[in-house]
Amino acid sequence: MAGTMYDVCIVGAGMVGSAAAKWLCKLQRETKVCLIGPQEPTEEEWQKREIFSAHYDEGRLSREMDESLIWAILAQRSIKQYRNIEKESGINFYQEVGCAFVDIQGKESLEVTKQNAEKMGVTTYKALDSVGLQDQFPYLHIESNWEFLFNSKNAGYVSPRNLVAAQQKIASSHGCQVINDVVVKVHEDAGGGDDDFLKVLCQSGREVTSNRVLLCMGAFSNCYDLLPEGKQIDFKPMKTFVVKPEVSEEYAKTHADMPSMITNIPGKMSYILPPIKYPDGKYYLKIGGYKVPNVASDLQDMVEWFRSEAQHQDKKDATLDMLKFFLPDLDPISVRTARCATSHPPTKMLYCDMVTTRLGVVMGLSGKGAKSSDEIGRMGAKMIARGSWDYDLPAEHFKLRYKTTGAQRPNRRGAILPRITSRISLYQKVYYIHCARVYLTSQSHR
Ligand SMILES: Cc1cc2nc3c(=O)[nH]c(=O)nc-3n(C[C@H](O)[C@H](O)[C@H](O)COP(=O)(O)OP(=O)(O)OC[C@H]3O[C@@H](n4cnc5c(N)ncnc54)[C@H](O)[C@@H]3O)c2cc1C
Repeated sequence: MAGTMYDVCIVGAGMVGSAAAKWLCKLQRETKVCLIGPQEPTEEEWQKREIFSAHYDEGRLSREMDESLIWAILAQRSIKQYRNIEKESGINFYQEVGCAFVDIQGKESLEVTKQNAEKMGVTTYKALDSVGLQDQFPYLHIESNWEFLFNSKNAGYVSPRNLVAAQQKIASSHGCQVINDVVVKVHEDAGGGDDDFLKVLCQSGREVTSNRVLLCMGAFSNCYDLLPEGKQIDFKPMKTFVVKPEVSEEYAKTHADMPSMITNIPGKMSYILPPIKYPDGKYYLKIGGYKVPNVASDLQDMVEWFRSEAQHQDKKDATLDMLKFFLPDLDPISVRTARCATSHPPTKMLYCDMVTTRLGVVMGLSGKGAKSSDEIGRMGAKMIARGSWDYDLPAEHFKLRYKTTGAQRPNRRGAILPRITSRISLYQKVYYIHCARVYLTSQSHR
């Protein structure tokens, strides 16, 4: 298929990729941008898909307060843009219902969160005791040794689906070409001169050429052949699981002021979203955060996780019980579960870095990047536009780390197999260490 030449090609039409595409088009109007990624699968397509996204939902908790100052700054900057994005796109995605942080009295996490809020000039929160919170939200179960921070403004939830749609709509209106495809290979056109570019090959056979490429592939960042030979990003792709009890419209109305919640109560650590209307016209609450031992081993494992309805049904009841603990009046009409995946770097911070002078990566947003995706997209857009770091927070925080246990490459089906060469180099390393020990021992005996 004939290729088109772009200044920047963004791979991954999820939360960050869509935001980055919009920002690139807005920051540098003359830049020719394309955004490549599969759109949300229909029910029939779901079982044939290999690549999924973390945004197929209607609720992601949003708040500008965080235990990490960097995450708090990114969230605050993003939230400031929400109403502008809604206005420009004509798509609503944000509900400002507030966010309640719940912990045992005297725990450090709330104190640090408050200190960060003060550093950032956030004044729209109240520290409440159990009586104060019970007065405000009488339907919540609250215990007297609990402590609360209630962030009333610039907090609530976003619809990730609508936010992505809004970002793509704005990007398109500024000339970005949105391509519904999966990228299977990115490689340098090896001339070695200034006229070099990257070739981007899609599953459909489409080929795109671009001066620079920004990879925003979330939990799928090590799949296929997109990184330079021998490089694999160091992160854990985590399979996650949420429970969504359906409630009546009347229940949703009586709980219309319910905030989003993050609870650190031992044995009940979770995040909770209030009743939200879904595209099927029904209202669902959502609870997530229940831990399942869940690092995906390879792409096949991830694919099976996304496609399977049956896995972890046993956790459904326990998770629902946890929600009923906080909402004793909950009597669901039905209960759904949903599977998803998040990407977790060992640094506990997202990665935003250049791999080569032409290839950049933004990923590793863990389970908390939806709310901040607009600003993270802007960070990535500025970096790829310049080809190097261009943001007012220190680059060191966002530096990529690569796997050191040897290169892993996807096989033809995309499954990640350890390469024999990496095993050989491991044996070599052991041998070198042995030789070094023998040498040092002989030195010390001299
Ligand atoms: C169940 C769940 C609950 C969450 N709750 C919250 C919350 O309450 N608040 C919050 O702030 N965050 C939350 N998050 C986290 C948030 O959703 C993620 O941090 C965010 O979506 C990550 O954005 P991303 O763009 O990096 O990844 P994604 O949104 O997953 O986007 C990656 C995109 O890359 C595409 N892609 C991958 N490989 C290829 C390829 N080879 N070719 C083309 N395209 C490709 C995928 O299709 C996908 O669209 C939650 C996540 C999950 C799963």
